[in-house]
Amino acid sequence: MNLTSLPQGPAFHYEGDALCVEGVRVAELAREHGTPLFVYSHAAMLGALSAYQRGFAGRKARVFYALKANSSLAVLQVFARAGCGFDIVSGGELERVLAAGAQPADIIFSGVGKTRREMRRALELGIHCFNVESEPELDVLSAVATELGVRAPVSLRVNPDVNPLTHPYISTGLKGNKFGIAHKDALRAYQRAAALPGLRVVGIDCHIGSQITNVTPYLDAMDRILDLVTAIESAGIPIVHIDFGGGLGIVYNEEQPPAADALWQRLLAKLDARGFGDRQLMVEPGRSLVGNAGICVTEVLYLKPGEQKNFCIIDAAMNDLPRPAMYEAFHQIVPVQRRAGATTVYDVVGPVCESGDWIGRERALSAQPGEWLAVLSAGAYCMSMASNYNSRGRAAEVLVDGSKVHVIRERESIEDQLRGEKLLP
Ligand SMILES: *Cc1c(COP(=O)(O)O)cnc(C)c1O
Repeated sequence: MNLTSLPQGPAFHYEGDALCVEGVRVAELAREHGTPLFVYSHAAMLGALSAYQRGFAGRKARVFYALKANSSLAVLQVFARAGCGFDIVSGGELERVLAAGAQPADIIFSGVGKTRREMRRALELGIHCFNVESEPELDVLSAVATELGVRAPVSLRVNPDVNPLTHPYISTGLKGNKFGIAHKDALRAYQRAAALPGLRVVGIDCHIGSQITNVTPYLDAMDRILDLVTAIESAGIPIVHIDFGGGLGIVYNEEQPPAADALWQRLLAKLDARGFGDRQLMVEPGRSLVGNAGICVTEVLYLKPGEQKNFCIIDAAMNDLPRPAMYEAFHQIVPVQRRAGATTVYDVVGPVCESGDWIGRERALSAQPGEWLAVLSAGAYCMSMASNYNSRGRAAEVLVDGSKVHVIRERESIEDQLRGEKLLP
């Protein structure tokens, strides 16, 4: 038997020429459940989490999964059962996490634009912490908490102004970004927070960007944050926890991101050297927990040769896989059944009426209409960003655990899409 692993790890591999997820053939899943179909590996999710857990062994540290990467209920359930907390960015995500079985005390609430209604709900439930992103938000949160007769636990998201060396749309820790409180203003913001009646300062946090493949920005951000912790505590405001955010990159193509445990070995060495090693630590990974735990299976509809380009038209599109259109992101595209034979170079595109609807450019494929392809590394920022553009129903999702297959989301029907819309009288 010829077992070949794909870059996204051993849960996804070829047995002979058949693509498999754990113990299940992808072709069987496509036949049974139709396409486009997201297929996730339970083992790959827990494997990604265990790299963080190894890195933090013996430390006071907790992983808060940033669910905007993939917020499907069963995915949340996997991480809740494994002991994770959750980093939410909306009231909708709050309800999702609760529906998946997490407790309010497992939740931290990030985001630049929390509404009063969202704050009220989170305060009534008693979440672990609000990651506050501006001084005006401090005032509003204090007022809402005071109305409810409680004190909101707050951490201030500080913008350390380091370059994460990633795509501009997913870098968040630079001066020009909308996120966080500027490093130079942070001490003043902490003094303001400490003086407000409805707040209780508990921590500090930062999140410098996404798909970071380099250790240096993390080390630099940590230095900047630790400098601030020293200054804030010197001003008489104790900082209980330090949250270093998420952002660790994954392998889509030829990136070489550090493993989570290797990254944290470097970061913990710095924390120890600076005397912060016994602090309560938090991280908010999203992509690195789920990105390579999922693929999107799609059928080839048409091959369209052209003078300048050949097109391979598939049944998945930018509404299912938005990352190429949004960030010019790269996903590997591989056959579900490999076979020998000549390949042709295609642009792989979806049926949506936009030139931006491409999934891969200049890919050598031997696929024929009716055959299936797998778009790799599709576990993060795909289904959670999926839309109904062109009135396309969203894809189905299955989760594979060993030889067991669980349907975790039914394919969206036209009735689902029309629900809630009203004709004029
Ligand atoms: C998106 C986000 C994360 C997760 O980022 P990844 O790159 O997916 O790890 C963590 N924290 C905050 C505040 C975020 O907005």
